[in-house]
Amino acid sequence: MSLDTSTAAGRPAAAQERLYGVCDYYDAESLLTEGERRVLGRLRSFLDEKARPLLADYWERGEFPDQLARPLVDLDLMEPAELTADGPTRGIYQGFRIFELARTDASLATFYTAQAGLFRTAIRVGASPEQQAEWMPKVIDFSLKGVFSLTEPESGSDIAGGLSTTARLDSDGGWVLDGAKRWIGGAATADVLAVFARDVADGQVKAFLVDREAPGVTLEKIHGKTALRIMQNAHITLDGVRVPDSMRLHNVNSFRDVAAMLRAMRSDVAWIATGIQAGAFEAALRYVTERQQFGRPLGSFQLVQEKLARMLGNVTSALSLVVRLTEQQARGIYRDQDSALAKMQTSLLMRETVALAREVVGGNGITLESDVARFHADAEAVYSYEGTHEINALIVGRALTGESAFTR
Ligand code: FAD
Repeated sequence: MSLDTSTAAGRPAAAQERLYGVCDYYDAESLLTEGERRVLGRLRSFLDEKARPLLADYWERGEFPDQLARPLVDLDLMEPAELTADGPTRGIYQGFRIFELARTDASLATFYTAQAGLFRTAIRVGASPEQQAEWMPKVIDFSLKGVFSLTEPESGSDIAGGLSTTARLDSDGGWVLDGAKRWIGGAATADVLAVFARDVADGQVKAFLVDREAPGVTLEKIHGKTALRIMQNAHITLDGVRVPDSMRLHNVNSFRDVAAMLRAMRSDVAWIATGIQAGAFEAALRYVTERQQFGRPLGSFQLVQEKLARMLGNVTSALSLVVRLTEQQARGIYRDQDSALAKMQTSLLMRETVALAREVVGGNGITLESDVARFHADAEAVYSYEGTHEINALIVGRALTGESAFTR
């Protein structure tokens, strides 16, 4: 039986030249231009040759392979010159960029998305035109690295009302921040932290770019994680941290502006949840093709084939969903419930897919030797971040009924 996942499902010869074989069953890749495929192909080579060999070891150590950070930036994936002659990169390219990263490793996808998704979105939505003109080129070339610091130790799902980090306007026109932030991904290697705090004067949420090394900022690594061990998350304490008004995101004046950011970021996470499934499915398919029991490949048993079919169905559903969402967004349609539905549904499918992948790999499915163990564990963090299942379901429920059920 062939080990090549692109031919395992009997696809026509032309399909073998595609970037994504069987995990892109209905050929969503055909929506990409040749140039976009070329850039993604470069990313693929980097991930296969430089990143993949390191992943199991760094996952076990709970460390990020720092030697990958610069070469990943140097791939110039964010707004590559060869794709931007006529304007910024297209959403479908950005989606497949996340898919490609997550298909290799959920932490790498989260790490890249912290800058290219979360921080960039904070600047795009929250900065004034003048601030954007100054900062956006640096965000794109990573000379200004930032992270999104919203969640707090005592407020996750209820952050809109519960956010308790304070911002006080001082007599010199600057701001003083006090409070704590939890789970902030990539904070230890960022230049600035985009911190959301409640203005004590008007009670509204505002946003500030805080120098990571400013006096009063303390970062502690969150240890002992059982998911996304490669991605580094920080607990941040802010104690009388001074920020000039020029570093306040001038277009963030209430939580409504933060919600507009989350709307865009949730679609990125739906692409991550889709890519994880593709990676887990491909690894499982490879394994059942190679491994023999009862003198036959595992993949020849009916009960194993049923699981393969379910995994493929899940990956195909998730990919179809995020592609359609991305097409809608390209037409300017951004609604809370759309990205919440996509994050919720792709994450549900992801949980089932990684569990099935782990199952068909048997005992080896819980060792880091098989990629499925990493995907299986990491999926749990993705399931919870960027809005839990319940919170995204409640956003969809509110849109369907007109009734907010968050606090009843
Ligand atoms: P809680 O809010 O305490 O929820 C616990 C459970 O209760 C969940 O199942 C939840 O769905 C349920 N629940 C809560 N309220 C309701 C309700 N009204 N009805 C029904 N069920 C409810 N945040 C950032 O700001 N920046 C980051 O970079 C970042 N990165 C992260 C990376 C990782 C690996 C993780 C795990 C988290 C990260 N987060 C980040 C935080 C993340 O967004 C929160 O974990 C998430 O919003 C959930 O909050 P919580 O963990 O406090 O759970």
